[in-house]
Amino acid sequence: MTQPRTFRIGEIAITPLLDGDLDASLDKVPDPVDRAAAAELIAAAGGDKALTMDCHAYLLHLPDGPVLIDAGTGSMMHERLGHLHERLAETGVRHEDIRSIFLTHAHKDHFGGLVDAAGRAMFPNAEIVMHEVEAKFWFDTPPADMPERARGTLHLNEKAFGPYRDRIRRVREGGGMKGVAARLAPGHTPGHTAWVIETGAEPIVAWGDVVHVAALHLVRPQTAMVYDLDPHTAGATRRDMLQWMADSGAVVAGAHLQSPGVGYIRREEDRYVFEPLQAS
Ligand SMILES: [Zn+2]
Repeated sequence: MTQPRTFRIGEIAITPLLDGDLDASLDKVPDPVDRAAAAELIAAAGGDKALTMDCHAYLLHLPDGPVLIDAGTGSMMHERLGHLHERLAETGVRHEDIRSIFLTHAHKDHFGGLVDAAGRAMFPNAEIVMHEVEAKFWFDTPPADMPERARGTLHLNEKAFGPYRDRIRRVREGGGMKGVAARLAPGHTPGHTAWVIETGAEPIVAWGDVVHVAALHLVRPQTAMVYDLDPHTAGATRRDMLQWMADSGAVVAGAHLQSPGVGYIRREEDRYVFEPLQAS
C-alpha cells in the first residue's frame, strides 16, 4: 500500500487515508432491469475490478490543527480493511492530536476505527461531530422503529460510540465548526452528511457514501442498491450532488471513490466522470 499523499487546496491540505477496499456485488441491485443495465456498465468498465470500492477516511490539516472526516473500519470488517491507523501514523499526526472527527454517517466502515478490537477509544482527545439528524436517528430512535437493516448493526454502533458518549457534538444543517459545515445528503442513512470545507479557494465536499460504485452511479445515478436505507431519496441526493459538484467545480472527497479519493466531478455527454487530483 502506498504512503498517504497530501493535496493542498487553498489554505488547507487534505490527506486521504486509505483504509482498504471492499467488494460490492450486483446482487445488491434489487431491481432486475436496473441490475441488467448495471451488469453492462460493470462489464464495460473492466468487470469485477469495477465493483471493488476503496474505503477512505480523510485527514484535514486546518489552520488550528488536524481533524478527521470519518474513522475507517477498525477491526469491524475483513482483513483487507482496517489500515487507517497505520496510514495516520505515516503522516506523523498522532491519535491524540486529533480534536474533532466529523462523521459522514454512522456505518461501520466509517466509525469502526474509533475504537480498538476491545472497544477502547483510539482517539483520547477527539469529539465526534455529527449532523443532528443522523445522531437522532441512531441514538434517539427506539430500535423497533428502525428499518431492519439499521437495527442489525446497532451493537456495532454501541461499541464504537460507547467510549465517546460524553463527547458527541450534534450540529444543525449548515452548522459546524472550524470552517467545516454540515449539509444533509440523505438517503444512504437519514442524516447522511456531506461536510463542506472552506479552503479560501474552491471548497472541498466530503460526501461520504453518495457514490458507492462509480462505474455504475456516475452513469445511472438513480440505480438503487440495498446499501441505501432509503434508495429513492439516495438516488435523488446522488443526482443533486453530482450536478452540484460538476457545476461548482468543488473538490470532492468521496469515501468509496477510487484512490486517492479526491478529485473533480466532470460532465461528459450522458454521464459524469471522476477525475482524481494529481499530487502537487
Ligand atoms: Zn461506506
